[in-house]
Amino acid sequence: MKLHELTFSEIRHGLSTGTFSAHDLVESALDRIESVDSSLNAFIRVRDRENALAEADEIDAVRVRGGKLGPLAGIPVAVKDNISTRGLGTTCASRILAGYDPPYDATAVERLRNAGAIVVGKTNLDEFAMGSSNENSAYGPVRNPWDSNRVPGGSSGGSAAAVAAGEAVLALGTDTGGSVRQPAGFCGIVGVKPSYGRVSRYGLVAFASSFDQIGTMSRDVEGAAEFLTAISGSDHRDATASDVDVQQYTSPVTGDLRGVRIGIPQESIGEGVDREIAEAVQGAADAMRSLGADVDTLSLEHSKYAIASYYLIADAEASSNLARYDGVKYGHRASGVGELDEIIAKTRSEGFGPEVKRRIMLGTYALAAGYYDDYYLRAQRVRSLIVDDFTRAFERFDAILTPTSPTPAFRLGEHVDDPLAMYLSDIFTVPANLAGIAALSMPCGLSGAGLPIGLQITVDRFVEPTMFRIAREYEAALDLRLRAPDVNGMGQCG
Ligand code: GLN
Repeated sequence: MKLHELTFSEIRHGLSTGTFSAHDLVESALDRIESVDSSLNAFIRVRDRENALAEADEIDAVRVRGGKLGPLAGIPVAVKDNISTRGLGTTCASRILAGYDPPYDATAVERLRNAGAIVVGKTNLDEFAMGSSNENSAYGPVRNPWDSNRVPGGSSGGSAAAVAAGEAVLALGTDTGGSVRQPAGFCGIVGVKPSYGRVSRYGLVAFASSFDQIGTMSRDVEGAAEFLTAISGSDHRDATASDVDVQQYTSPVTGDLRGVRIGIPQESIGEGVDREIAEAVQGAADAMRSLGADVDTLSLEHSKYAIASYYLIADAEASSNLARYDGVKYGHRASGVGELDEIIAKTRSEGFGPEVKRRIMLGTYALAAGYYDDYYLRAQRVRSLIVDDFTRAFERFDAILTPTSPTPAFRLGEHVDDPLAMYLSDIFTVPANLAGIAALSMPCGLSGAGLPIGLQITVDRFVEPTMFRIAREYEAALDLRLRAPDVNGMGQCG
């Protein structure tokens, strides 16, 4: 087994027994980036090799001395490029932030560094995290490691592809409407959107502030759990970061889910969902039942309005958040213009890509006097109904099982001219953002064409331990961890 194929738990074991060092691991990640990233395009910026290896050597030296090391000591981690890193730049995959270098690290990055992780680079994304395919990037699309003609999902497509292809062991992503879970599903890895408030948003470039959360991407559930424990918790620099106790999210495998009540929404295995995806989710439910869980169906009746509500509110918040890019404070400034309003207009027309412009216009429209009640306010009312659906559901169930997406990874270019079709691929992921609750995507099989299928486990706010327990037991029972495909000879699955 090659180093870049190992899961977090295998790596932790290997490091503690001295089978390999942090130096070996970081070297393997950087070598892997060198050999496959020209095909994948998962990274916007790669860390300087000498610096990264020097950090690894320090960790190895502490280990040899028997000193105290953090829970992620020596683990190569990639960071989505809308999360601030001092000295590594932060572009949000937008021309408007070209050349911008944040003066500080995001809290999540500071915490992962304090836990001993080693940042290997910044990953590609849809511009400002707006998209579901990673095709809206000023740095070009990312390719799915399972099939180079397919998208990796988005917007955290670079982070998902990097973890699936062994360019990093763990990666930070961000999830506003599914951007951690959908690409995790498309690339056959584990992606977690924590409860709103679980992870500080300080240093995360704002898209839609009432939904945005930083989340984890890994090749196994244990990696996700350890990573989330390390980056969670209150932060005086983000008033929405909750002070609810951070738990140790890793739990031992017991082979037992007795007493756990799992609900499957009728709506999620019906019309519009690929048959093989519905079957894979049913298969996962059966496996959980044989571990002792009680499985039953339920209805989330307002979920059919989730996409409309999400895209209205998200765009309204985005139009306000993105007003700060005026050519004065950050990154790009248009040249050859005189007056301030001309500078702002030209900078924004040159700097933003078409999807970002579409969202700013839609959002501004929805907030305009005369339309506010009909659009923005109505979308917020629908959001409350969706929250109520979940509140009722969690009286009867501990967790809700759905597909992560209605189809496996689609082809590059398949939805670019049809924004609505692109938005619809978020149908199962946006409800958790609207409600502020937690959800995890993990592999539950392969499609007939050999593409990963994602299973989503959703729980109530701050009930992450139950989510991880179910995921861990299911992963252990089925050994469904998918191995990174052969990206060197990047194939086509069909
Ligand atoms: N696909 C969704 C959108 O484009 C979600 C994006 C995200 O979670 N950042 O808004």
